[in-house]
Amino acid sequence: MVLLIDIRQPTWMQEDALRDVLSPMLRDVPILCGLEDGDLSTVTMAAVSRLHPGMVERLPNLKLVQKLGAGVETIMREKGLAPHVRVTRLISEMPANEVAEYCLTYALAFQRNVFAHDEAMREHLWQKIAPRKTHETTAAILGLGHIGRRAARMFSQAGFRTLGWSRTPKTINGVECRNGDDALASMLGEADIVASILPATPETHDLFDASLLGRMKPGALLINAGRGDLIVEDDLIAALEAGTPGHAVLDVFRTEPLPEGHAFWSHPKVTVTPHVSGWHLDDGLRDVAENYRRLTEGRPLLNEVDRGRGY
Ligand code: NDP
Repeated sequence: MVLLIDIRQPTWMQEDALRDVLSPMLRDVPILCGLEDGDLSTVTMAAVSRLHPGMVERLPNLKLVQKLGAGVETIMREKGLAPHVRVTRLISEMPANEVAEYCLTYALAFQRNVFAHDEAMREHLWQKIAPRKTHETTAAILGLGHIGRRAARMFSQAGFRTLGWSRTPKTINGVECRNGDDALASMLGEADIVASILPATPETHDLFDASLLGRMKPGALLINAGRGDLIVEDDLIAALEAGTPGHAVLDVFRTEPLPEGHAFWSHPKVTVTPHVSGWHLDDGLRDVAENYRRLTEGRPLLNEVDRGRGY
């Protein structure tokens, strides 16, 4: 029973560093770092940042893919992944807080006209713009799961009127929760700030097309910290030109890294961040070791993904 670690994102986390964290929790368990580190036929569990093409074919005895993070779409879309292979994800406190903070940071920047003041400063313009009143601002949080629920609470505590949207009904203190497609369209018409923390699934793919973007309030702020394929990018550019929404803050993209020459890079109404809103896995890493033990002992796994539902 060998554990494989495959990350391939050295600026985020190195395989060796993760092995150093896991080894004390999994004494005597052989851990491979990367596909070239040993005999892959013995690997039963793979802890990965994503599933790369051709990877699972090299792991004939794979029983569990542990995502090192929350979003599992690259795993769900992997055609070679046998139906018996189970998938788990991390539900960690720190990155959930970080994503919520990211959304709130840009919401507050919007309230205080940070984008406009930066631009005016570059032009040497002493231009006073009234800040928005937070208690008169409506924020809609799309996705009320582990992260979205936290973001909604944070917005509510910061004084925003806060709406929340999910697939199934929810109750969250201080948040007006709604669900269903009709609810989304009407919610967008009320929201000055829309922050999406939705997973990538067949249902959320291309959800924000010209028609839905057109339901937003003129001048509104759109934040996407979920996944890039939520938004039809050409439709967003056209919508921004028309002023609805007024600005987009995007942490995630259909193609990452965002290609050189992409219109978002230089668009005055777009803020690009390189998929950094959730970063530190910290407290979640012990679950990787715990899931190895549970898999070995045949006990229920932590945070198992519903492969049918896709998240
Ligand atoms: P969860 O699975 O806990 O929550 C997902 C939420 O989305 C649930 O509330 C779910 O509704 C809702 N949802 C899913 N499909 C639909 C739909 N079709 N219509 C309406 N609501 C829907 O996930 P997390 O909160 O942990 O993470 C969410 C996503 O954030 C991840 O999948 C990942 O893609 C992204 N992410 C991005 C990061 C970044 O750095 N940018 C970092 C971490 C995560 P219901 O509760 O009713 O099922």
